[in-house]
Amino acid sequence: MVHITGAGLAGCECAFALAKQGVSVRLYEMKPLRYSPAHKSENFAELVCSNSFKAERLASASGMLKEEMRLMASLVLDCAEETRVPAGGALAVDREKFAALVTERIKTCKNIEIIRGEVLSLEKLPEKDKIVIATGPLTSQALSEELKKLCGGLLSFHDAAAPIVSFESINMDKAFFAARYGRGGADYINCPFDKDEYINFLSALKEAETAELHEFERENFRVYEGCMPIETLAKRGEDAIRFGPLRPVGLTDPRTGRRPYAVAQLRKENERGHMYNIVGFQTNLKFGEQKRVFSMIPGLENTEFLRYGVMHRNIFINSPQVLNRDLSLKARPNVYFAGQICGVEGYMESAVCGLVAGLNISGKFAGNPPEETMTGALLAYINDSSVKDFQPMGANMGLLPPLEKAVKGRQPRYQALAERGIAALSEYLKPQGR
Ligand SMILES: Cc1cc2nc3c(=O)[nH]c(=O)nc-3n(C[C@H](O)[C@H](O)[C@H](O)COP(=O)(O)OP(=O)(O)OC[C@H]3O[C@@H](n4cnc5c(N)ncnc54)[C@H](O)[C@@H]3O)c2cc1C
Repeated sequence: MVHITGAGLAGCECAFALAKQGVSVRLYEMKPLRYSPAHKSENFAELVCSNSFKAERLASASGMLKEEMRLMASLVLDCAEETRVPAGGALAVDREKFAALVTERIKTCKNIEIIRGEVLSLEKLPEKDKIVIATGPLTSQALSEELKKLCGGLLSFHDAAAPIVSFESINMDKAFFAARYGRGGADYINCPFDKDEYINFLSALKEAETAELHEFERENFRVYEGCMPIETLAKRGEDAIRFGPLRPVGLTDPRTGRRPYAVAQLRKENERGHMYNIVGFQTNLKFGEQKRVFSMIPGLENTEFLRYGVMHRNIFINSPQVLNRDLSLKARPNVYFAGQICGVEGYMESAVCGLVAGLNISGKFAGNPPEETMTGALLAYINDSSVKDFQPMGANMGLLPPLEKAVKGRQPRYQALAERGIAALSEYLKPQGR
């Protein structure tokens, strides 16, 4: 028997995958007895915001992920395709029909028993059984307090992610590697501003449009001073960011031999070093505005954004520290995590995480899919202890290992990466008819 808490995208995928392998499942969902501030419907797999599962073309991170989910017989993808509405190159759904269909499939699946009610503590669940926590970014208060203890305090209640860009898109004719005061290795990429560039950047940053916060998030962010968005700091005075994340002290521009007026620093996101985050740039700007304004940073004129910065209410555990590769908890290996709570970001990412957790628990998968797949790369990221400031991550091409032979141009490169990943997954699924 496997107990799954939360019948969202991850919980439903996990339950369905297990049930299809003949494993008995008890699926606990607190709705309709209790709702998170964003959930409104009694149905499972509720899409709390957009009704889009993003791009379908294979040569994109989300298209690649969907193709992999198709190969792994994903319930969520199947229901999405049955309830799709026209949306150009994206897969969008009628959200009510989608959630109703997932709910129906779960209800009529013979190995799944549904229990409506909030799981307040794991204590009541039999210790000999496996437990999957799939309660999402808005896990109820009582359970999140318990999970925090279970994870040795390594659970966050908000994300504050800075944008990540690809290394190869940084203009290294302007930017340079160096460490402040030459201390340690030259691990940072430094983007130097002169005074005019700084003034222009600052004024664009102060005027840029921010994303709407949900009402419940506004409440939360009033008390959330610890990690201030860069645009808020910018409004505190002309030099506020120059004395903060853009401070130039201890750095010399090799092109001029002088200290720049200001410097934006970028740090490797993981050991592989394709992804760099802009240090201290946690932001709530709209994605289009991030592209426009952050591209004004000298050296980032043509940069490829792999992840935009976000700040929302989001409960997630520090997976690289607390989880094993199969998504089980190091401290209590009969407890697994799946979905957004383990630090993936996005509808499909959450679903695929539930799917893999289910297939791992049932024994159908002996380990996660290879890292050339988007699924495998994403799960490797949330398990990568070289990531210092762990923040939730969505599917993106920067997660994948580089191609053996370089391919010129972004689209041909993406196509080659996607084809390599699909071939690797097909190969992985061959034994035992996976
Ligand atoms: C406000 C908001 C907007 C978002 N918008 C988008 C978007 O537009 N696009 C996108 O790709 N991603 C979005 N996300 C991120 C993420 O993809 C979704 O939150 C996704 O639904 C996560 O899937 P999940 O299965 O992990 O969790 P959820 O889908 O949230 O499912 C968790 C389920 O667990 C239940 N639950 C919680 N606590 C308990 C408990 N103690 N006992 C029993 N049941 C419990 C909940 O009621 C819920 O049904 C958004 C997140 C939030 C918070």
